Amino acid sequence: MLFSEPKRNDLMTACGGFLREEGDRVSVEFRGRRVYFCRLACYRAYLTDPERFMKGAIPHPLEEDDESASGSA
Ligand SMILES: [Zn+2]
Repeated sequence: MLFSEPKRNDLMTACGGFLREEGDRVSVEFRGRRVYFCRLACYRAYLTDPERFMKGAIPHPLEEDDESASGSA
């Protein structure tokens, strides 16, 4: 069985996926369209270069969110 088709009310993510529920996901407005991020790492990748990320030119991050790692960079 393949992926089920997205429903109309599913939320589009910047990385080309869909979310079933809005929850507390991070979202931004990109060219008049609301896009969501599947995880914080996804959002960070978007921030590095929004245009390229939305085109799929930047590989989707595989890292998991790590709240404890936030802080000094
Ligand atoms: Zn993502």
